[in-house]
Amino acid sequence: MAKKIKVRVTLNQDTCIACGTCGALMPEAFEFDQKAGKYSVKPEFREIEVDEETYKRLKEAESMCPTQSIKVEKIE
Ligand code: SF4
Repeated sequence: MAKKIKVRVTLNQDTCIACGTCGALMPEAFEFDQKAGKYSVKPEFREIEVDEETYKRLKEAESMCPTQSIKVEKIE
């Protein structure tokens, strides 16, 4: 069975400039929040167990955000 990694994904809407990079990279995890006019983490991705591949993609989205608004932390 593939190893699962438990992560917490957060997105700071105060610094998000709604560039859309995260949503383009991982539409299953990030979506445009119409009300805020910013992106947000889909509720199911705020705390989630993912496989190695998904973890890498989340870390990529984190590193590609131009304003460092995304944090992907491993949790216990
Ligand atoms: S990549 Fe960063 S700045 Fe761009 S929409 Fe996502 S959170 Fe906002």
